[in-house]
Amino acid sequence: MTTIAENLQAVHDRILRAAAPANRAPDSVQLLAVSKTFGSEEVTAAWHAGQRVFGENFVQEALDKIARLRHLDIEWHFIGPVQSNKTRPIAEHFAWVHSIEREKIARRLNDSRPPGLPPLNVLIQVNVSGETSKSGVAPGEERALAETIRSLPRLRLRGLMTIPEPTPDAALQRRRFALLRSLQQALQADDRGVDTLSMGMSDDLEAAIAEGSTMVRIGTAIFGSRKTVKSAP
Ligand SMILES: *Cc1c(COP(=O)(O)O)cnc(C)c1O
Repeated sequence: MTTIAENLQAVHDRILRAAAPANRAPDSVQLLAVSKTFGSEEVTAAWHAGQRVFGENFVQEALDKIARLRHLDIEWHFIGPVQSNKTRPIAEHFAWVHSIEREKIARRLNDSRPPGLPPLNVLIQVNVSGETSKSGVAPGEERALAETIRSLPRLRLRGLMTIPEPTPDAALQRRRFALLRSLQQALQADDRGVDTLSMGMSDDLEAAIAEGSTMVRIGTAIFGSRKTVKSAP
């Protein structure tokens, strides 16, 4: 068995190898460690190996971990679907939300963001695969949502996020990621604050980095496979 520290090193090596052929600096790609279903011990092990940025999908599970790990300097990102009755704890305890897909959710997060904290960094989730079962706005719809977010003073629009349907076809992976990048470039034309492209997971981070990802969200390759598998709806 490999340790979390060894796994993290291996992921950093993959990022390095993927960045080189794309002529990108390795530090232009941030590593978000996705710790959902793992405990505070695993997060602490990753923290000791130098990891500071973690992603969580489930609100109650995340709040428990955040409370236990209050003594560590961790930046928490919420990456799961946001239910409207959970916007307050998310706005209070996270620095980033990657999964905005509705105006109503954006407004509620804005209204619940505590005045003592900096604005909440948010990404709009886009569905680049066109599957009806997956979350995210359809390509093109991100522009209107971006407009709304810009009018909300307690949110700061940082970019786009996507979870493409899993495929072993590397060319298809790249087309999906290239689509997100082109949408981001259109947003950047009217907003210099848009600097983040959250795309790439354990199985497709190379394709994502080749297409300009600035933040890869990695769970399995760091912590191992998840025991509790949520069944599909
Ligand atoms: C679970 C999850 C990940 C991590 O996936 P791995 O394949 O385990 O790396 C990334 N992004 C989101 C939104 C997730 O829910």
